[in-house]
Amino acid sequence: MSTQVETKQFQAETRKVLDIVINSLYTERDIFVRELVSNASDALEKFRHLSLTEQPEFDAHVPLEINIDCDDKKHTLTITDTGIGMTAQELEENLGTIAHSGSGKFIEELAEAAKKDVSLIGQFGVGFYSAFMAAKTVTVQTRSWDGSEGHEWHSDGNGSYTISPCDGLHRGTKIIIELKDDAEEYGQKFTLERIIKQYSTFIPFPVNVEGKKVNTVEAIWGRSKSEITDEEYNEFYKFVGNAYDEPTFRLHFAADAPLAINALLFVPKDNFENMGMGRMEPGVNLYCQKVLIDQHSKSILPEWLRFLKGVVDSEDLPLNISRQSLQDNALVAKLRRVITKRFLKLMAEEAKKDDKKYMEFWKTFGIFLKEGVTSDFEYQKELSTLLRFESSASEAGSMTSLQEYVDRMAEGQNEIYYINGPSRGAIENGPYVEMFKKRDIEILYTLEPIDDFVLSHLGEFDGKKLLSADRADLRLPESTEKNEETQDEAGGEKLAEAVQTSLCKWMKEVLGDKVKEVKPSTRLVDSPAMILNSDGYMTSSMERILATQGKNTQDNPMGMSSKKEMEINPASSLIKKMADLRTKDQDFAKDIAEQIYDNAMIQAGLIIDPQEMVNRNYRILERMSA
Ligand code: ADP
Ligand code: MG
Repeated sequence: MSTQVETKQFQAETRKVLDIVINSLYTERDIFVRELVSNASDALEKFRHLSLTEQPEFDAHVPLEINIDCDDKKHTLTITDTGIGMTAQELEENLGTIAHSGSGKFIEELAEAAKKDVSLIGQFGVGFYSAFMAAKTVTVQTRSWDGSEGHEWHSDGNGSYTISPCDGLHRGTKIIIELKDDAEEYGQKFTLERIIKQYSTFIPFPVNVEGKKVNTVEAIWGRSKSEITDEEYNEFYKFVGNAYDEPTFRLHFAADAPLAINALLFVPKDNFENMGMGRMEPGVNLYCQKVLIDQHSKSILPEWLRFLKGVVDSEDLPLNISRQSLQDNALVAKLRRVITKRFLKLMAEEAKKDDKKYMEFWKTFGIFLKEGVTSDFEYQKELSTLLRFESSASEAGSMTSLQEYVDRMAEGQNEIYYINGPSRGAIENGPYVEMFKKRDIEILYTLEPIDDFVLSHLGEFDGKKLLSADRADLRLPESTEKNEETQDEAGGEKLAEAVQTSLCKWMKEVLGDKVKEVKPSTRLVDSPAMILNSDGYMTSSMERILATQGKNTQDNPMGMSSKKEMEINPASSLIKKMADLRTKDQDFAKDIAEQIYDNAMIQAGLIIDPQEMVNRNYRILERMSA
């Protein structure tokens, strides 16, 4: 047996990594603990696997665990595992070189990050070598499971390391770190406990810090569904979601091919964004074999699913991936697609199963699904089946799906209609639904500001166009009533066509640039007038929102126009009176025309000049006969 100490040089690439690690400052150097603990866990896993087939004899009784000890005075940190251990040859291969596949590219990326911003390096897992972020020297004492002679590896990270035989070791590996002066916090128990809880809670072996087990929560996502109780699920939810409520839905699934995925996701009960708490951080953490690689991951789910809590674990992901590269990693994109589709499928099933429960979800989190429709083309089809709106066919307060609307459509109707308004009552008493009511055509009520954007983005459902009832070019399905063309509701006559034409022309002159056109209406029943949009995309509600956001819709790059069309009702007694007044008292008739326009604008939810309107209104009131 030789007792000599051998000094060896690190491989060139390893030296580069060490150089970057040692000569940079870190904001996230906590991760070196994660790296060493996950190496220890890997070594234990390997031993467990091996003992299934090999029946090892040496130290067979030693329990599988990780022990972390520290000395706040001597400033040392020791991480011991009872895993597979390493022979002298393995020591040299594993800790003298970098064996990562694609390590060249990895080092390039790492060096690039170091140049840009040293704090970025902390996001890279640089494996074992990350120990040198905090270590003056690292000593590795290890003995292989086969019982062969133990060895000690030692280095200060500067170009070379030594390997020498070491007596009296048990199976496994002990890593002794002599801490740098500015890294003394890692010699403190509570720092280590905090880091283990953050990154290594779900390691499947006991992790003891100073003899006390720190990882007490089990990674239940790896178990099969049938073995997990509701209580266990709920406890887990509270842990990962930092929550106090109970989840309303959960999705737990595993897949092996084409990707290894274990996902456990929860829908919380409350929406904190609704409660004025500001924008939420994503609530799903990304793991690779139970080791955290991205907390509150922005990459693993689309942004509009930020209300979900839980974990996604994929062993296909490399541990040492940076957060930047997660965002444009093709594998992560695939995971995201699979998980998102699974979630949307679950919600569709739940909606079928229990409408009441689904509606609770919809009221709380529907806004996120709407955001999904407007921001993410990829899932529009799935999302469209989950949307719910009030409708002329639903009772107040209850909602309908687009599919239900389509199922109710009468023959001859090929489009889906909707109209926005501040409330059901306001819509039902307004001009836009008059003809719908009369002809018994269903119309959806979009009561939320975002709704018209959602339906406009969607464009169609089940091959049927989605159209806002304030569109100028709307053509309702042919009427079956014969006398609708010439008579008003009370059977009174409409204005003669020639009178209609000249009245419209005159009103256009009076209103000037405020309207693009004034036309006789075929859609009004009771109201004298209504405002319509000739722009096929914008609705009045969308325009109002853009206006309140300070966006100028007049010279908007999307070509949105604030130019309105006005339709007047040739059967309305007010319109008929105005036509008559025009020949007798021009000025008064003008005031009436302008007032009708303002009233229609108000009914469209659009902005008018209140001062001008009030003054005009007083002038009109002055005309009261005494
Ligand atoms: P990775 O874990 O990605 O392979 P590391 O740099 O973290 O890269 O570790 C390099 C190698 O060193 C590991 O693959 C493993 O073979 C060996 N190793 C590291 N730590 C231990 C340990 N505690 N016990 C046994 N082998 C270890
Ligand atoms: Mg490792």
